[in-house]
Amino acid sequence: MHIKSAIFVKGAVGTDDVFEDGHPQIAFIGRSNVGKSSVLNALTGQKSLARVSARPGRTQQINIFLINRVWYFIDLPGYGYAKGSRELKERLQKLIAWYLFRSTYRQKKVVLIIDGFIGWTESDREMRDALEESEKDVLIVANKMDKVKPSQYEDQLSALKAEAGKYRLIPFSAMKKTGVTELADELMR
Ligand code: GDP
Repeated sequence: MHIKSAIFVKGAVGTDDVFEDGHPQIAFIGRSNVGKSSVLNALTGQKSLARVSARPGRTQQINIFLINRVWYFIDLPGYGYAKGSRELKERLQKLIAWYLFRSTYRQKKVVLIIDGFIGWTESDREMRDALEESEKDVLIVANKMDKVKPSQYEDQLSALKAEAGKYRLIPFSAMKKTGVTELADELMR
């Protein structure tokens, strides 16, 4: 599946008609700094659809992009470490939890992005478990695989996959643009 068009629709901070207009939603979630913006840009072939190391503003809301006039890519704020006050972090955690776990909105897929070089962190495991508990259709993207030494690549990939459980894990590098076709094919079947 080739992404021909990607348009920023709007930022949402809560209930919004746009979530209910019938476009299938594919949500992207990950710890701050895993490269979520870079993955979205690599996937859509755009340099700055999602802001890399974003300005405040766009990172504090749920950003909605229309893809090929059919799907919504739902770019959720990063979890875990983030710049800003404790209040801001709490507000963002609540926004994520509301959209994924408490709202009535359904996702065709939830893409959990982890840092393939660092590996699974405690907050990644918590998110994976919460998604599994709420029976989401999860796909895991291990970004930054370009940082793994070739001699360690297979071992690292096995370790990453071991904790992916029943979910498919796609090794990815937003920097080298590896994994882009696999991810696009998996998302937009
Ligand atoms: P976000 O906070 O998750 O949206 O992360 P960003 O997309 O802003 O990226 C965070 C940092 O990781 C930036 O310095 C990126 O250049 C870097 N980065 C993102 N993807 C990759 C990758 O595939 N490989 C490497 N080596 N660095 C990456």
